[in-house]
Amino acid sequence: SPKKQKRENMPGLISADGSQQKPNLVRPGFMQDERKKLPIFAVRPRLVEEIQKNDTLIVIGETGCGKTTQIPQFIHESKLGKDGIIAITQPRRVAAVSLSKRVAKEMNVPIGDTVGYTIRFEDVTTEKTKLKYMTDGMLFREALLDELLMKYTVIILDEAHERSINTDVLFGIVKKAQRLRAENAKSPLKVIIMSATMDVDHFSKYFNNAKVLYLEGRQYPVTVLNAKQPQNDYIQSCLSTIFQIHLDGPPGDILVFLTGQDEIEGVAHTVRLAAKECKQTLRTLPLYSAMPMQMMENVFRPTPPNERKVILSTNVAETSLTIPGIKYVIDSGHVKARVYQPNTGLDLLKVQKVSQEQSWQRTGRAGRESAGTCYRVFTKEQFNELPKFTTPEILRCNLASVMLQLLHLGVDAYDFDFMDKPSQEALDAAVSQLKMLGAIESQETRKLTSLGSKMAQFPLDPRLSKILISSKTYNCTEEILTIVALLSGESVFLNSLNNREEATERHKKFFSSEGDHITLLNVYHAFNSFKTQKKTCAENYLNYRNLVFASDVRKQLAQICEQNKIPLSSCGQNTELVRKCLISGYFMNVAELQREKKYILVESKQRVRIHPSSVLHRTLPHYILFSEVVHTSQAYIRQLSIVDPELLNEVAPNYFRQHRLGTKD
Ligand code: ADP
Ligand code: MG
Repeated sequence: SPKKQKRENMPGLISADGSQQKPNLVRPGFMQDERKKLPIFAVRPRLVEEIQKNDTLIVIGETGCGKTTQIPQFIHESKLGKDGIIAITQPRRVAAVSLSKRVAKEMNVPIGDTVGYTIRFEDVTTEKTKLKYMTDGMLFREALLDELLMKYTVIILDEAHERSINTDVLFGIVKKAQRLRAENAKSPLKVIIMSATMDVDHFSKYFNNAKVLYLEGRQYPVTVLNAKQPQNDYIQSCLSTIFQIHLDGPPGDILVFLTGQDEIEGVAHTVRLAAKECKQTLRTLPLYSAMPMQMMENVFRPTPPNERKVILSTNVAETSLTIPGIKYVIDSGHVKARVYQPNTGLDLLKVQKVSQEQSWQRTGRAGRESAGTCYRVFTKEQFNELPKFTTPEILRCNLASVMLQLLHLGVDAYDFDFMDKPSQEALDAAVSQLKMLGAIESQETRKLTSLGSKMAQFPLDPRLSKILISSKTYNCTEEILTIVALLSGESVFLNSLNNREEATERHKKFFSSEGDHITLLNVYHAFNSFKTQKKTCAENYLNYRNLVFASDVRKQLAQICEQNKIPLSSCGQNTELVRKCLISGYFMNVAELQREKKYILVESKQRVRIHPSSVLHRTLPHYILFSEVVHTSQAYIRQLSIVDPELLNEVAPNYFRQHRLGTKD
């Protein structure tokens, strides 16, 4: 739990056996020397002066020059904005955590003290916290409680070029808060927008012609090598490139850009096996959001002489995190991104091609400390066909959640001051979804219903909020809390590549013929009954850490339920009520069997299959309700429950009157 975390990180804490733990702090001088070597240190006086002079400042600097770790410290040390907190937003959780820990170390303070972080379901800050690293989503949620964000004297919107949906919304919110705070001569708010590269004019114009400051970086030349022929399997190409470098290349670590956890773990497994045959040690380190923090710290550890490190990363290493020692970059040319499908109103996690801009960022990672090499596993022609820039997330994601929260703030998304306004169709689709969920009175007035106001209290997708609130009607709040908490985190099943069959065998006892949601429920019940949880989880191939995280999330959601007068009732063995309750928010997420394992989505008529990880993979029920669509080589639905027309018509009669069931095309 976050509280526990705070304690564990305290220096000099007396441990349970009474012995004094060694404070995990370093000699202050060492870190200070490191800081002074960063290019940003030379311009510190100028930076501080500009921050003092300007209410809004745009800071652009090469990745790794020290923006995220140093600028907040400069502001703090020069006592600018000392009456409040300095917020630094990040689009990624893992970056917020890792960078705040780095800064705490540099300042020689325990994390959660002067420096802390806040991410969804985890708050490691105290009253003493002055530098608060947080996800953009968390600052957005805080704005729902205090539109003026009075706690903060400085807000740094970092990684602005990424244009994550929450950062984009924060642009508008922070801009307005700044204006209102200036008008009423209340305490002024300083806003700093930071980024690697970006379309500066667009940003400056939006922020009332704000001043732009360019920071010099150190960048050594990088040789770019392209594939000679188009490759049909980028994973295979990355693998062979890794060993080509490892066997023949001069010393230096390798950074490989891949797309997600499963893919990375798969590649890591293959690399480790093959590396056993090599003379020189090749240390394989995955880097993705859902991995344990201790493992992540290994990534930053210097490589021992005579060894080589290969880091297999998602695009978190593209601009958010800088890893020392990288001399080789392998760019798969792919990234996993949220993509919105206007016709379904669904967001899809999809592996897709990067933009040229992203590819150049990746290339740059090879030239941080000396000249380097970047291997692109695609051809020059293929590079030229890539889109130049990445489309901002707000132009390609489902807007229902953002719209609901803005409405809760009293702001109509149609009038909101977006830097890039979403299309009329996307806004209309969000409105229509909120109407179907009963969150707004009508599509024209867009006035929140009392259900809608309640839904906005939960840090969840509107569909899940609706399900949690409906659980009161179906007397299954305990069960739904568990399912929602487990759906909010990473998988609780360990699928070890070595013992996949044994793992599946152990998992079978949790399987429910009703589907994955009830299976999750079974896992959680079992977990709570284990006497020695960590050990028993390992024996059953369950992810202990993710289960602990889920129980913490569950506690927090239970609190919000209590605040909203939703009693924690249980339906016991009557799990049909749980599935009914799921329909109340997921009625738009129903698929119907067509033929030969092929399903069709009732809402959009898109063709999908059941994901192989589902317990219903072999059952092929006629109707299924799903939590998500994933797109790898083809579209799959995941996290499923069996439903039937009777249940569907009972829970969502209006919807299914329009979208008839049993209409094969
Ligand atoms: P920017 O925000 O400009 O991209 P950062 O402030 O994130 O740069 O990083 C500044 C420097 O600090 C980088 O060169 C990086 O190597 C170093 N650094 C950051 N985090 C760590 C860490 N956890 N361990 C070691 N070095 C780190
Ligand atoms: Mg940064």
